[in-house]
Amino acid sequence: MSERDYYEILGVSRDATTQEIKSAYRKLAVRYHPDRNADDQQAEEKFKEAAEAYAVLFDADKRARYDRFGRQGVSGGGFSGFDPDTFGDFSDILGDFFGFGDLFGQRRGRAAAEPGADLRYRLEITLEEAAFGLEKTLEIPRLERCATCEGGGSAPGSEPAACQACGGQGQVRFSQGFFTVARTCPQCRGEGRVVTDPCVDCQGAGRIEKRRKIEVKIPPGVDTGVRLRLAGEGEHSRRGGPAGDLFVDLAVVPHDVFYREGAHVSTSLEVSYPQAVLGTTMTIRTLHGDQELDIPAGTRQGSQFRLKGMGIDRLGRGGRGDHIVVIELAVPHPRDLSEEALDKLREMAELQGDEIREDRGVFDKVRNLFG
Ligand SMILES: [Zn+2]
Ligand SMILES: [Zn+2]
Repeated sequence: MSERDYYEILGVSRDATTQEIKSAYRKLAVRYHPDRNADDQQAEEKFKEAAEAYAVLFDADKRARYDRFGRQGVSGGGFSGFDPDTFGDFSDILGDFFGFGDLFGQRRGRAAAEPGADLRYRLEITLEEAAFGLEKTLEIPRLERCATCEGGGSAPGSEPAACQACGGQGQVRFSQGFFTVARTCPQCRGEGRVVTDPCVDCQGAGRIEKRRKIEVKIPPGVDTGVRLRLAGEGEHSRRGGPAGDLFVDLAVVPHDVFYREGAHVSTSLEVSYPQAVLGTTMTIRTLHGDQELDIPAGTRQGSQFRLKGMGIDRLGRGGRGDHIVVIELAVPHPRDLSEEALDKLREMAELQGDEIREDRGVFDKVRNLFG
C-alpha cells in the first residue's frame, strides 16, 4: 500500500473539518467501491487507501497523533491497524449500501446462517450451596436441530429450491437516489433457498423443541447476580449456524440464620446480662461446623467477634471470608422470671444504687387478663 499522505489521499486540506473529511471520503468510497469496479486492482487499492485515511482523520484523537507523528503515530500503519470501532462510522456513512464485509474477509452474497438464540435460566440456590459449590442438572426447554432433516427443513430425499424473490442471491437490491441498496431477502431470510417439501417432524422449521438435561457445575463462592455461561448450550441455529449460549443467573435464597455480606457471614448471639458481665464460652454454628467462642467478661451489646476463615470462599480470588458474631444482650420480661430471680435483681439494683420503679399495677392487670 502506498505511503501517501492521508490528507492528500482524501484530497482535503490539513485544516479540513470532519464534515469535509467525511464527504471527501464518501465520494472516493462510492467511486472506487469494489461493487462498481469488479476485478479492478487499482480501484480496490484506492478504496482501501481512502478507508484507511478516513479511519485516522475522522477520529480527532488519531488525527492529532497523525499530525504530530505521521503514520508512526497511528498504530503500525497499514490497514491491519484498523480499529473495529471505526467500522461503526463506516456503516454510518455508507449505510449498508456496500458489502463492507468484503474488506474484512467475510463472505459476500448469501448471509451466513444466524446463530441460535441465547437462553437464560434463573437458578435459586441455598447459601450452603453458594458457599460450597454444587453440580446440578437443569432441564432446559430449547429448540434443537431436527434429526430427521438434519436441520435443513426439507423432507428426506427432497432439496430446497432457489428462492424466487432474490434468484438465490439472498439479497434484494433496489435503488435509492444514486445508490444501489442491498437488503437481506425477506422471503428466504438471506438463505437464498426455500423449503418446498417440508420435513414432517419439524414442519420445515429445521428445529424441534426438546427438554434437555444439562449438567452445570457451580463453583464455591458464588452470589446472587453471578451469571454462568455454558457456551453452545443455547438454542440450535436455524440452518447450520452456531448454537447460542445458555446463561445461568444465580440467586441465593436468604438464610434464616446466616446473614451474608460478600465473603463474610454473620450471626447474632444472645447472651444474658450475667454472661455478658462475667464472661462465658459459647458454641457457635458456622458454615464449617460448630466453633467455640470465648465471650470475655464485660462484653457489651453490639460487640463483634470474628472467627477467621469461617465464612465463604472468595470467588476467583482465593481465600475465605470470616464469620462475624454480633452480641445481642438478652433482656427478659419480668413475667418470664421467677420470683426468686426478680428478688435477686432487686437486690442487685439496691447494691448498685439503681432506682427501680416497678409498675405492679400493670403487671397484675396483665396477669388478670390472661390468668
Ligand atoms: Zn425436520
Ligand atoms: Zn430470497
